[in-house]
Amino acid sequence: MVSKLKNINSYFKPILESLSELADKLNVRVYLVGGVVRDLMLGEKIFDLDIVVEADAIDFAHKFADIHKKQFKKHHTFGTATVFFDNHHIDFVTARSEIYSGFGALPRVKPASLKEDLLRRDFTINAMAISLNKSDYGKLLDYYCGEKDLKSGIIRILHDDSFMDDPTRILRAIRFEQRFSFKLEKDTLKLAKKAIGKNAFGLVNPHRLREELILILKEPFPRRYIKRLYELRILSLIDKNIKLNKNDFHIVARIEQAIGFYKASFKRHRQLEEWIIYLMAILHRVESGEAAKFLDTFGFRKGEKIRILSLYGNVDKVKQLNKKVLPHVIYKILNPLSFENIIFFYAYYRGKTIRKRIGIFLDKLISIHLRLKGEDLRRLGFKPPTLYGKLFERLLYAKIDKGFKTFKEEISEAHIIFENCQSKH
Ligand code: ATP
Repeated sequence: MVSKLKNINSYFKPILESLSELADKLNVRVYLVGGVVRDLMLGEKIFDLDIVVEADAIDFAHKFADIHKKQFKKHHTFGTATVFFDNHHIDFVTARSEIYSGFGALPRVKPASLKEDLLRRDFTINAMAISLNKSDYGKLLDYYCGEKDLKSGIIRILHDDSFMDDPTRILRAIRFEQRFSFKLEKDTLKLAKKAIGKNAFGLVNPHRLREELILILKEPFPRRYIKRLYELRILSLIDKNIKLNKNDFHIVARIEQAIGFYKASFKRHRQLEEWIIYLMAILHRVESGEAAKFLDTFGFRKGEKIRILSLYGNVDKVKQLNKKVLPHVIYKILNPLSFENIIFFYAYYRGKTIRKRIGIFLDKLISIHLRLKGEDLRRLGFKPPTLYGKLFERLLYAKIDKGFKTFKEEISEAHIIFENCQSKH
């Protein structure tokens, strides 16, 4: 037997050997399962481990965490536990079978054999296990022909009701299909279409769909994924009348480039939440009220909603950057926007002028700050303090336009602006 674990990276080797030792000591069967097995066989990088124990997984994980003096967290409701190793985590679950009481509802679970546990999984390529017990360490357990499908590049469900039992699997199918450039097996595709036609998504908790949608949008270069979601009418879960046209896909392609530009040129700014920008591209032609309803129903976070919805009110404002404007106008338009909004607009508007100005804003204008503080104004006798807010705003705009370098320049400009404010007050 050729061990399927011989190529695992050196960080995980001692961890797996230690799991193996504990399994034999406690006389329980322990397996590596699911996506990690798939990735190992594909030669992909491994980040986390999923372990199935044919016994009490929480107890096993607890003992394992004690041996390594690592943090341990149990989730009683799910009968699972996690042990944290540096930046990696190891999830433990008791082998179990699932009974679906109604389509889309969460299943009831009961302890079962490994074979049954693998049968509850989404696709054959994710339903393989590797034994960790010493007697057959590294042996592949492949009851559902996962290896064959992996070699032929096929995503196949394990039984006909799979998508109706859990429609989030349709989104997972697209994710794996596009990630590995695989194909949905013929009947799997038929059953996916059938489930979509029967409005299977309406049966699931929208929060679970949101999580899967975000995972798709977080894949590198998600344009192909979005295309496939659209082709299969899966985006109707967002809005039943949603329509994406050629131009929308061009925008998505330009977002991929714009993100590359941002990452290469503005390393000092915070990291983008890239998936939000792609969601903006999907939603930008949906009516804003409908988009708000979708974001609420699917439980997006407040900060995510604010960024996405601010798109609608700013399309025309950002368009003004096409005209001849002073630098402070660029600042005034772009500064209230999130980096995600700004990169969306960079992709949305292809005009050289707008793009150049967005570049100037991100490169220079965004970091212009006043040296003058409220206490300086007080010290210099500026009164009343109720005018300070207005003064700071105008002073900043003046600094942006005129490019003051010194504190002295700021003070003399502050005097001019203040006199002006007072006379109008
Ligand atoms: P990724 O590489 O994106 O993390 P993964 O396959 O490891 O993919 P996880 O979501 O971590 O995905 O799930 C781990 C395993 O759990 C899967 O490989 C699959 O066996 C099983 N699984 C996850 N979600 C489902 C689901 N909705 N239905 C059935 N099995 C699932």
